[in-house]
Amino acid sequence: VECPILYGKNIAVKIEEELKKQVEVQKRKLGRTPQLTTIVAAEDSASKVYLASQAKVAARLGIEFDFQKLPGDISQDNLEKEIQSLNRNQAVDGVLIQMPLPAHLDPKRAINFLSPDKDVEGLHPQNLGRLFFLEPKIIPPTVAGVMAMLEEIKIDLRGKEVVIVGHSEIVGKPLSLLLLNKLATTTVCHIGTSGAGHLEMHLKKAEILIVAVGKPRFIKGSSLKKGVVVIDVGINKENGKLVGDVDFETAKEKASFITPVPGGIGALTPVMLMRNLLRLTQ
Ligand code: NAD
Repeated sequence: VECPILYGKNIAVKIEEELKKQVEVQKRKLGRTPQLTTIVAAEDSASKVYLASQAKVAARLGIEFDFQKLPGDISQDNLEKEIQSLNRNQAVDGVLIQMPLPAHLDPKRAINFLSPDKDVEGLHPQNLGRLFFLEPKIIPPTVAGVMAMLEEIKIDLRGKEVVIVGHSEIVGKPLSLLLLNKLATTTVCHIGTSGAGHLEMHLKKAEILIVAVGKPRFIKGSSLKKGVVVIDVGINKENGKLVGDVDFETAKEKASFITPVPGGIGALTPVMLMRNLLRLTQ
């Protein structure tokens, strides 16, 4: 039996239809077009790809997208002034600080300066803190994409053995809290787990496996339990091709559902970003 492949695109199309309607409603309410502004300070090829996809999705939805290129040698003070001026600008509904920032800038301090009411990626400590208690309106877009994928297959998370590999602040950590709130038994593995030689043990018991590590085809099918749901968040370049953190060919032999790379979670992230933007306008 072929393992069903979970394409992000199909879900993205449905969500976009809903968002288009919301854009029209908000336009009438606000008397202007909802607007997202992205601040970019570093010259980075991955950021360029991300920016292009933001612009494309915004255009499809009728959202105003603006990007502010700051000089690469901007001081922390001046960066924070730019953020504060966007905080005050009433024509701007959401602000995204494109990471990575140049090395001399402190990304956490920068995010602290952003108004939580304009924090479209849900990374301000106040928004992340809300995750502790419940499912807030604004959650990091990639995490929202993973949750939408799990909803799509109507899986009951209660009591499920969920294993997340990767504990980053934008994916693994916030995702672990959301899944805990849904009463999944949530294990978070990371570099320390591998270092201790325990990764295989955790992978073997996973009924749902979510991987965000950043290493091409790191997880092989031979490590997985039969019937596992595999969500691959990784996006890596290998010989000029995009591949995930999961070895798709071997993993699909074990999985009951699997997301592809590209075309899986990555196709949902920019749409979830725009969903956050609209929530900020409401
Ligand atoms: P990161 O790069 O900040 O951190 C990597 C994580 O992997 C850490 O928790 C680290 O401990 C863990 N790790 C590294 N080596 C390991 C090993 N040998 N064994 C176990 N764990 C190990 O993570 P990130 O920013 O979440 O990015 C991870 C991947 O997800 C990247 O490929 C990135 O491009 C991708 N990503 C995709 C999207 C999307 O929209 N699809 C969004 C964000 C990130």
